[in-house]
Amino acid sequence: MSVGVLALQGDFREHAAVLRNLGAEVELIRRPEELARISGLVIPGGESSVMDKLARAFGLADPLAKAVRAGLPVYGTCAGLIMLADSVIDGIRGQQTIGGLDIAVRRNAFGSQTLSFETDLDVPVLGASPVHAVFIRAPVVETVGPRARALATLPDGRCVAVEQDNLLGTSFHPEISGEYRFHEYFLQKVADARFRH
Ligand code: GLN
Repeated sequence: MSVGVLALQGDFREHAAVLRNLGAEVELIRRPEELARISGLVIPGGESSVMDKLARAFGLADPLAKAVRAGLPVYGTCAGLIMLADSVIDGIRGQQTIGGLDIAVRRNAFGSQTLSFETDLDVPVLGASPVHAVFIRAPVVETVGPRARALATLPDGRCVAVEQDNLLGTSFHPEISGEYRFHEYFLQKVADARFRH
């Protein structure tokens, strides 16, 4: 079994490169029937409203939602985190998500002055050394529901990384900063889950 990267839109190539560097076999996923080949999935950064429309147009949205609820390990970065959120604040009209993460995310939460920025974050589950995090028109997790838990927060207390059972999400983009620990952590989740379709 291999790890899929949702390849409808966004920076799926960067995720595929990180996962291959870590020794994973990678499948780019664009069609529902391709889901049967994978034991985990990464949803990349990009534009969540476009990804949502494409996922529905390609018939992927419902099969993805079913797989998430059946326990498929999924890691979403930025737009991918939005796709996994049960609730979106400041989405475009009619924007839907796959859901699964018991969180509310706010799209484009950093306003125009700080659309993009980089910072170092403490992420205790990844060890003592800080994670260099790149935020690009990033969301924040505004509400962490009882089934989810925060993995990292900004100095002002806003949550930017979460985990819930088979699901992992970050507001930022480890795939473009040479930071492999989130992908390693995710691959361990995939190995532990031994997901069967
Ligand atoms: N602002 C984008 C969205 O709403 C996310 C940006 C990103 O993935 N870097 O989906």
